[in-house]
Amino acid sequence: MTGGTPLRTLDEEDVLARILPLLPGSQALDVAPGDDAAVVQTGARTVATTDTVVLGRDWLDAWSSGADIGHKVITQNLADIAAMGGEPIGVLLTLVADPELSLEWVVDHAHGLADECAAAGVAVLGGDLSSAPAGVVMVSVTALGRLEGRPVLRSGAKPGDQLAVCGSLGLADAGLRLLQAGRAERHTEAVARQRRPRSPLDQGPRAARAGATAMLDVSDGLLRDGGRIARASGVVIEIESVALEPDVAALAGALGETAALDCVLSGGEEHSLLATFPAGTLPEGWRRIGSVRSAADGEPPRILVDGHAVAHTGWDHFRPD
Ligand SMILES: [Mg+2]
Repeated sequence: MTGGTPLRTLDEEDVLARILPLLPGSQALDVAPGDDAAVVQTGARTVATTDTVVLGRDWLDAWSSGADIGHKVITQNLADIAAMGGEPIGVLLTLVADPELSLEWVVDHAHGLADECAAAGVAVLGGDLSSAPAGVVMVSVTALGRLEGRPVLRSGAKPGDQLAVCGSLGLADAGLRLLQAGRAERHTEAVARQRRPRSPLDQGPRAARAGATAMLDVSDGLLRDGGRIARASGVVIEIESVALEPDVAALAGALGETAALDCVLSGGEEHSLLATFPAGTLPEGWRRIGSVRSAADGEPPRILVDGHAVAHTGWDHFRPD
């Protein structure tokens, strides 16, 4: 991130002149970046979310390029829009950085942001650049989306529903573990997914139309995020481990069986979608991994695997390392 041309040798206009031409605009914009604020046509209910990543906490330069971080922070935000059943419209970007950060890192980062936004058909609505104390680099994204129907909440799961996932489980965490162990070559797809997670964004609105009763994206691990649906809905979610065998098998060769299972159950940063649907039908692209039942007398809302409570270690920002 350092080396090259430090930001301190440029003024803000110079930096913006390098970044702005890279970023996609949109016809949804009544007033484009350059004025004091953007004006957006949504024509529907608006979904809003924000997410921030910090150098040293959320990424290491040894493992992720500026472009990787651009891809990742956009995906994290757009996955949250999808998880509500919304379609993304645009993003607002903030970069707060040590003036020693290189222009080359920023331009690489802007390419990552732009590529991911373009792939999702999302406009960059505006942004902000600010300086920070030595060593600090922070990227914050705010995403807006439109919601044609009702929002899909975490609290709507009903006894008798099926639990389903769209996308992979455990790959991003497996990639992180391999990077930490210096064994990235053991599973290059997992490492690539840790650097640039993928979320099935168009499946969020599709699930909403198909009658999903609850939904979220798997950002902190299947057990932790599934437990959030259980508690918000006041139900017990039963995961059937046989449904996870292909996910575990895909990682076991690189990590061993135990760590592979831990990645699948507890791995964060995956951004696949997890939802509950009424029994009987699932939209194409979704697979059933369990079911929802009412809590027995005195039983708390919770998530079980093959009938057992499983200790989980999913990512928690404030857990001491
Ligand atoms: Mg989320």
